[in-house]
Amino acid sequence: MIDIQNITKVYKTKSGELKAVDNVNLSIKNGEIFGIIGYSGAGKSTMIRLLNGLEKPTTGSVIVNGQDISKASGTTLREARQKISMIFQHFNLLWSRTVEENIAFPLEIAGVPKEARAKRVEELIELVGLSGRGKAYPSQLSGGQKQRVGIARALANNPEVLLCDEATSALDPETTESILELLLDINKKIGLTIVLITHEMHVIRKICHRVAVMEAGKVVEQGDVLQVFQQPQAPITKNFVSQASGETQEMQASIEHILANHPSGKIVKLSFVGQTTEQPVISQIIKQFDIVVNIVHGKISTTTSGSLGTLYIHIDGTPDQVTAALSVLAQHEIQTEVIEHA
Ligand code: ADP
Ligand code: MG
Repeated sequence: MIDIQNITKVYKTKSGELKAVDNVNLSIKNGEIFGIIGYSGAGKSTMIRLLNGLEKPTTGSVIVNGQDISKASGTTLREARQKISMIFQHFNLLWSRTVEENIAFPLEIAGVPKEARAKRVEELIELVGLSGRGKAYPSQLSGGQKQRVGIARALANNPEVLLCDEATSALDPETTESILELLLDINKKIGLTIVLITHEMHVIRKICHRVAVMEAGKVVEQGDVLQVFQQPQAPITKNFVSQASGETQEMQASIEHILANHPSGKIVKLSFVGQTTEQPVISQIIKQFDIVVNIVHGKISTTTSGSLGTLYIHIDGTPDQVTAALSVLAQHEIQTEVIEHA
């Protein structure tokens, strides 16, 4: 439903031209949660502004439901933009208005009569889990509650697309989880298409179906979240994935330590999808090849399309035993990667 075709956005700055978005092609399907991840300055916010027509691309087009919003202007653009809503990192609420009045605001602008407005506001308050807080002012709310108001307000006029620019980046981890769950819930309930921008891979893992990775204005990798987590290709994607898999420096240090002290063995990273039973396989290779296996680090992550397990093991044995054990693992749809000395 959203087709981004060869878009490039060049800004003219004092120090010359800057390509904030560099020949990007993406296709976002109806009803999916699509994530765009990148470090600061990658061009994510520029992408979002191109998506909602706030900014015109230097070249290329953005087709939303068959309409090229990069070429639209005036009433056509205004109407197209009503179908695209947005939430922000710092909520952008009206501080002198109550929760109800904040949510009613876009309805007032759209000319919805008073009674219908009140009814819709009530529905939205319930949907985002703010029942009983309608008369509160933003200053009386927690960060998570403020973002719930932001979400309710964004949904007021039944948009087709919700754009989220770092919508959880100002929230603590627990509140982030609850806001992500709310977005997932809304996506399932009303089939809303969500485009979410973040610099945090766990946000992508938790709710996105597909992801595009941006670096210096370019999309360097894209695909299904589970697939990207299991087999990241670009170096930057590998960084994001290990960040989200909790691969800490302590873990790296303990791997280095084991490698230094066991020259005969190898550290192997195993990745498996869904319910692949790694335990029986590991006992099998221990028995079959007379090797010693130590578990270094393990983690199971849940994505919207299944679980992904990562296990770091140390296999101690002769090179032949280790090679034979690896070949058995490979037959079990377990992705294996030997971690070499740094
Ligand atoms: P992100 O959201 O990924 O951090 P942005 O899209 O905000 O990245 O910015 C991408 C690049 O474009 C940055 O180098 C930024 O400084 C530059 N940029 C963004 N907006 C403008 C603008 N209006 N004028 C000039 N440069 C800009
Ligand atoms: Mg940004």
